[in-house]
Amino acid sequence: MKRISIAIDGPSGSGKSTAAKNLAKILNIEYIDTGAMYRAAALKALQENVPVDNDKITAMLDNTEIDFSNGSILLDGIDVGDSIRTLEVSSMASRISALPGCRKKLVDIQRLIASKKSVVMDGRDIGTHVLPDADYKFYITAPLETRAKRRWLEIGERDGVTLDEVRRDLAERDKLDTTRALDPLVKADDAIEISTDKHGIYETAELLRSYIK
Ligand code: C5P
Repeated sequence: MKRISIAIDGPSGSGKSTAAKNLAKILNIEYIDTGAMYRAAALKALQENVPVDNDKITAMLDNTEIDFSNGSILLDGIDVGDSIRTLEVSSMASRISALPGCRKKLVDIQRLIASKKSVVMDGRDIGTHVLPDADYKFYITAPLETRAKRRWLEIGERDGVTLDEVRRDLAERDKLDTTRALDPLVKADDAIEISTDKHGIYETAELLRSYIK
């Protein structure tokens, strides 16, 4: 079978990861969560007190291994699982993802993975920058309030955070992600836009599937 690549972009909490994961399962190909890669880098920076500085973060990443194994994200060989899903890590991921050295390192890994196997890859810049020649591109959205409620239901109780805090984190990350100079979150001209507000996140994978020939 020909190797295919499917790019899925959109803001935090839009349901793109759930849709991407389910689509990958339906198609029996690999799911690559690029947000998890920025989060893993952020976790290490927080653990090692590395400041948000291009040279320092790039030097840290020169000595860091970020990879996937059976769908789990590995940081220096260790499955970091839910520890990358806190608000503190989210916020740090958004800040370091604006640094050119950090983006270059992670984009190189993403392209290498996609050059070897069929992938559904989700993130912010996949269709516009990482895989501009992807076979299919989707842009998944939902209104801020819907996204905040979804995220809060996922992490609110576990992390003891309020809906207001989650909404503020998402709004702040939306701003950073869409206004940064380098590869901001933007819909690719040739991406199909889908709002999960209308479709619900579980139906979305089937809807995406219907576009794949
Ligand atoms: O998708 P997720 O919310 O896990 O991503 C965490 C952060 O990583 C985002 O807020 C964004 O700043 C950054 N990111 C990025 N480019 C990607 C994926 C994620 O800048 N391709």
